[in-house]
Amino acid sequence: MPAPAARSVGSAPDPLSVLNSVFGLPAFRGAQEQIVRHVTSGGSCLVLMPTGGGKSLCYQLPSLLREGCGIVVSPLIALMRDQVAGLLEAGVNAAVLNSTLSFDEASEVERRLLAGDLDLLYVAPERLLTPRCLALLGRANIALFAIDEAHCVSQWGHDFRPEYIGLSAIAERFPDVPRIALTATADDVTRKEIVERLGLVGAPAFVASFDRPNIRYEIVEKQNAPVQLKAFIGERHAGDAGIVYCLSRAKVEDTANALTKAGIAALPYHAGLDAGLRARNQDRFINEDGIVIVATVAFGMGIDKPDVRFVAHLDLPKSIEAYYQETGRAGRDGKPSSAWMAYGLSDIVQQRRMIDESTASEAFKRVSIGKLDALVALAETAGCRRSRLLGYFGEAGHGTNCGNCDNCLSPPQLRDGKVAAQKLLSCVYRTGQRFGAMHLIDVLIGRVTERVTQFGHDKLSVFGIGAELNEKQWRAVVRQLVAMGHLQADSEAFGALKLTESARGVLKGETAIMLREAAAGTRSRASRVRSRRGDLAPRSAGEGRPADAGLQAALRAWRSEIARQRGVPAYVVLHDSTIDGIAAARPATLGELRGIPGIGDKKLEHYGDELLLLVREALA
Ligand code: ADP
Ligand code: ZN
Repeated sequence: MPAPAARSVGSAPDPLSVLNSVFGLPAFRGAQEQIVRHVTSGGSCLVLMPTGGGKSLCYQLPSLLREGCGIVVSPLIALMRDQVAGLLEAGVNAAVLNSTLSFDEASEVERRLLAGDLDLLYVAPERLLTPRCLALLGRANIALFAIDEAHCVSQWGHDFRPEYIGLSAIAERFPDVPRIALTATADDVTRKEIVERLGLVGAPAFVASFDRPNIRYEIVEKQNAPVQLKAFIGERHAGDAGIVYCLSRAKVEDTANALTKAGIAALPYHAGLDAGLRARNQDRFINEDGIVIVATVAFGMGIDKPDVRFVAHLDLPKSIEAYYQETGRAGRDGKPSSAWMAYGLSDIVQQRRMIDESTASEAFKRVSIGKLDALVALAETAGCRRSRLLGYFGEAGHGTNCGNCDNCLSPPQLRDGKVAAQKLLSCVYRTGQRFGAMHLIDVLIGRVTERVTQFGHDKLSVFGIGAELNEKQWRAVVRQLVAMGHLQADSEAFGALKLTESARGVLKGETAIMLREAAAGTRSRASRVRSRRGDLAPRSAGEGRPADAGLQAALRAWRSEIARQRGVPAYVVLHDSTIDGIAAARPATLGELRGIPGIGDKKLEHYGDELLLLVREALA
C-alpha cells in the first residue's frame, strides 16, 4: 500500500503537504526544500549538514514523492532500526534488510520490495553489495539511493569503512536512479573523495551552515571536576539525558559512581566493560528518559538520540574537530542544550605528553600539536566561542556575539596583563626553564617550600615578586600565556614550562598582553549564565505560554509506557519538543492537537484521543 498522503493526491503531490501530513511538521528547515525538490525531480546531489540538521527528511520525502522504493544505505544497525521504527509510527511503509533478520524475514522484505509495497528500505552496505541483493534491486522499482554517513567512503577520514568503497557500483549499475550522499563531515578532502567514489561529479552540493544555535558552549576552569560536574547537572540539567566524556576507563567508572551517589541516574560505558553490560547501558541510555552516560570517546558514533540535553567534557579532547563532533551529539532536536567543559593546565600537559610519547611520525605530531593549540586557544579566549569554532571551520561572518555562549552571556573582565606576564616569563627564565607551573607559582608568590630552598630559588630576584596575585590567578595567567603561545609545556621534562620565540617580545615590553580575570568562582559564573537562560531559551510550540509541568510529567510517563509496550525508544513515540508543545498548548480538540509540530496524521489517529484525555485529566 503506497503512503496515502504521498500518492493518492494525484500525479504530483506537494512536498510541503507530505511533510505536514506524514511527519506533522509545519515547515522545511534551511536547504531541505531545495534538496527535496532537486532529488524528487530526479537529480543527484551531495548534502553536507551538521548533526541534527535534518538530513533524513532530505531522502525520506523524495522516497515518498517518487515512484518506487527509496534505498537507504546506512552503516549502523541500531540507527536503521530506530529510523524504521520512527517511520512505521508515522505510517510509512519502511523496512530493513540486514544481518539481524532471519532468512524468512528477509524473504518477506524482498517480496514486499518487488511487489511495490515499500517506500523506504534500509540496507547495510555489505548486504547491498552481494550479487543476490544487486540482482534483487535490478528487478525492483527504485525511487533513489541515499548513502548516509557518506564520509565512511573516505580513506583519509576518521571513520573509513572498507565496505563503503564498493558503493561506487551503485552509480555504475543504476546510472538513471538519483543518488543522494549525506554527511556531517565537511572537510574538503573527504568531500572530494565522496564525489569521486559515489559518482557525483557535476552534481550540486548543498552545504548548510555548521552552526548549532541551540547549543550553549561553556568552558570553565577545572577545580574539583566531580563537584563542578554535579553542580552543573544539578543546577542546570536535573533529570536530563546527557553524555559525560572522560579520557580513561578508570575515570569513567569513578565519575559514574560519584554521580550515582549524588542521586543522578548515571551509567558507565567503555571498551573494558563486559559486552553485554555495555550494550545494556547503551540501550538504557537510548530508551529511557533522563539517563546520564559516562563514557570514553568511543561512545556516541551512530547514536541518534535526539534529546541529549548536555555533553560534558571532564578531559580535553584532542582537537576542535573532536570537540565539535562530540558536543554536536547534544540537542539534535533543536531544543536548548549545553556543551560544558572543565579544563585546566594539567589537561594541556597531559595531552602534550600523549602526543610526544606516541609513535607517530614527526609530521603527524606537529599537526597534532597545532590542533591541540587551537583547542587551548578556544578554551582561553575571552571572545565568542561560537564565532571562534565556526571560524576554525572556515565559516566567517558569525559576528562577535552569539548571545549563547558563556563569554557572550557573561563577558569576562579583561585587564592589562603585561606586568604579570613579564613576571611569569622572567621566573621561567631565571629558574632555568625546567619547572612546572606549581613550582613557578610558589616562587612568584614567595612561598618557602622544600623545593624552593633545595634549588636556591628563594635567593632569586623573582622570588616573591608576584604576591599581588593568588595561586588561582597565577594559574590563569600561565594557561593564557600557553594559549597565546608565549609558553610551551615541555613534556619531556614532566610538564616543565619553556619560553618560546614570541616570549622575547613580551619580556621586552613590545607585545601588549590582555588577560582575562580569573573567574571569581565557577559557581557564580555558572549561575550568572544560568540566570539568563530563561530569557534566551527559545520556546517551542505553545507561543509564549509556559509548559504545564504536571501535564508534561504525565505525558512523559505515558510515552515511557507506550515505548516500553512497543519496544521502541521513547523519542520514536513522541519527541520532547512535541511533548513540550502539547504541555504548553493544552489542546482541547483533535484539530488543535494536529497543529502541534510532530503530530502527523498517523500519530493523531493512533494517540490523539489518549493525548486529549491526558490533557483534560492533568488540567482538571
Ligand atoms: P541528522 O540526520 O541531520 O542528524 P535528523 O534527520 O535526525 O538529523 O533530524 C534531527 C531532528 O530534527 C529530528 O528530531 C527531526 O525530527 C528534526 N527535524 C528535521 N527537519 C525538521 C523540520 N523541517 N522541522 C522541524 N523539525 C525537523
Ligand atoms: Zn558567543
